[in-house]
Amino acid sequence: MNTQDIIAAVEAVQAAILANEQHIESLDRAIGDGDHFINVRRGCEAIAALKPELLALSPATAFNRIGMKLLSTIGGASGPLIGSFFISMGRELEGIAEPDGKHFARALAAGVDAIKSRGKADLGDKTMLDVLIPVSRLLLRLADEGGNRDALCARLKEEAELNMLATRDMIATKGRAHFLGERALGHIDPGAKTSQVAVFAVCDMLTA
Ligand code: ADP
Ligand code: MG
Repeated sequence: MNTQDIIAAVEAVQAAILANEQHIESLDRAIGDGDHFINVRRGCEAIAALKPELLALSPATAFNRIGMKLLSTIGGASGPLIGSFFISMGRELEGIAEPDGKHFARALAAGVDAIKSRGKADLGDKTMLDVLIPVSRLLLRLADEGGNRDALCARLKEEAELNMLATRDMIATKGRAHFLGERALGHIDPGAKTSQVAVFAVCDMLTA
């Protein structure tokens, strides 16, 4: 994986987010304040604008730069969370010029841990972590087993979808949705949906 690959992945995620605008928007309107799609789109645009600068950087530095930019660009609860996700990924990759699948799996796990500690949330709180934690755990395991890429991506997508859908039956204990109590039941968490869309986009790109 080089910085060009990271940029390609970000562009794939951006396209997928845009294609899912209505769905993501309506989820945050149902159990949040309706700005999640705008927040994420703004983040994607900020990264796209960094592209020329990123190309000259190592993967570690590029992730750090992306994270710093997101901290100052995305508002809401998700800005600092996603910002620290990228910064921690960069930290984990420091000194590695061409990270392989195992490096990336460890970086993803570090990024997810950063979201957990910054947001003081964990599995079952009806947040993006309900997708990111299981996907990251599965990737760590599969990257270690070293199977083929198509099979690995298919498993990751399945895991993302299953866990995104499972947030429908959860009561939120973090974020704005927790004010709704049981009224959040029956609605998928917007951050979980965005995370699933992002996982699909990267997997589809890797297996195209
Ligand atoms: P805000 O909640 O400030 O309006 P967004 O709408 O951009 O921010 O993001 C909402 C999403 O952020 C939620 O759907 C949820 O997935 C995620 N989220 C909220 N609080 C937390 C938290 N403490 N930890 C992890 N994710 C969270
Ligand atoms: Mg919101």
